[in-house]
Amino acid sequence: MGNDFNPFQMAQAQLKAACDKLGLDPGYYEILKEPLRVLTVNIPVKMDDGTTKTFIGFRSQHNDAVGPTKGGIRFHPDVTLDEVKALSMWMTFKCGVVGIPYGGGKGGVICNPKELSKSELERLSRNYFRAIAQIVGPEKDIPAPDVYTTGQIMAWMMDEFSKVKQFNAPGVITGKPLIIGGSRGRNEATARGCMYVIVEAAAKIGLSLEGATVAIQGYGNAGRIAAELLSGLGCKIVAVSDSRGAAYNPAGIDPWAIGQFKDTTGTVKGYPGSEDIGNAGVLTLPCDILIPAALENQITAAVAPEVKAKLVAEAANGPTTPEADKILFENGIMVLPDILANAGGVTVSYFEWVQNLMGYYWTEEEVNDKLHQVMVQAFSNVYNMYQRYGDIDMRTAAYLVAVERVAQAMEVRGWV
Ligand code: NAD
Repeated sequence: MGNDFNPFQMAQAQLKAACDKLGLDPGYYEILKEPLRVLTVNIPVKMDDGTTKTFIGFRSQHNDAVGPTKGGIRFHPDVTLDEVKALSMWMTFKCGVVGIPYGGGKGGVICNPKELSKSELERLSRNYFRAIAQIVGPEKDIPAPDVYTTGQIMAWMMDEFSKVKQFNAPGVITGKPLIIGGSRGRNEATARGCMYVIVEAAAKIGLSLEGATVAIQGYGNAGRIAAELLSGLGCKIVAVSDSRGAAYNPAGIDPWAIGQFKDTTGTVKGYPGSEDIGNAGVLTLPCDILIPAALENQITAAVAPEVKAKLVAEAANGPTTPEADKILFENGIMVLPDILANAGGVTVSYFEWVQNLMGYYWTEEEVNDKLHQVMVQAFSNVYNMYQRYGDIDMRTAAYLVAVERVAQAMEVRGWV
């Protein structure tokens, strides 16, 4: 997130707009505008050189009307309380869009994991989780990985919580390695969910996926697997990029071959037969489907008028600015918003938690089938809302679906 805007104020503005559009009693906004609970912790960590350093960590639980809160833990030097609060509110919306029985939560620790040794990282992870252990748990709040946190870190945190509680509690956290209760299909879930909603949207806008051209910004977990899956549906991947450059070939790029090239060289740039058109070039390329799968604030008001894709599917979180949204809408480009297009990740995290609670594990095929059902239903709900109003974009429609759902839960519980 940049320093020039406050993500929490932005999240509050989005919430306010959705509450107003739905004509909700002001009491709903009054409750939803702040997290229900925020914990700030000081985390002492014994460093390898024998000194003790204190890190600051947060856990924000935005709303639990629908179910226990859920959301990742971010380890990053730029973590702020307002960022964590905003991310927890967005998680409420994301869970609401896909209709999984969770509210939104988020955690963060101000640190630079790249400067920590593995043992320092383990102590920080364990100490942070012990410090928030009172407010998390399988029935309360279920964290997951986010920026710079990994399956290994989830394993340490689950282990620490299990020690504190003196029972094995795999359901306290998701994104774990398979051997201790992770879910099959989790690694591909974000890209797979994105593919499922692209299929639905393409049918609505009359776009045939056979031969459809695709440009992807970012070639990591989300972007690379999306390229492979869409290629499997007959799409032609014409451009991909990463932090070091881009690869463009109008004749098409083999996503597996360029993935291997990146594994060897560290970048997609320089892939044989391709041209480096730079990151901005990928966003404005003539193509049918554009998938931002890297960072926030990429499709700005300056870029949006040049976007030529018919469909934009936000695998990344927050890649399009509000001003750019308006331009894309006016230009008739459908945007599948992040809270829908990348919600496959949290959905399979939900499946992981369900499997942990049952102690019974599904095949990858079962996971993918269930993910398909959830994403198709979510797309349909958002598309119906989009059509019901007629004058809103798909992002607004997604917020309306989510806020309406949370508001219904709050109403029947008697909160408003
Ligand atoms: P990742 O670290 O695996 O990959 C990120 C990719 O973006 C890398 O290829 C990196 O080189 C590239 N990149 C970085 N800076 C870039 C730049 N300036 N221009 C072009 N490419 C650049 O991360 P990921 O897990 O694939 O996440 C990507 C986005 O998807 C993030 O916004 C993340 O929040 C979102 N997301 C991911 C998941 C998930 O399950 N992985 C779930 C929901 C949302």
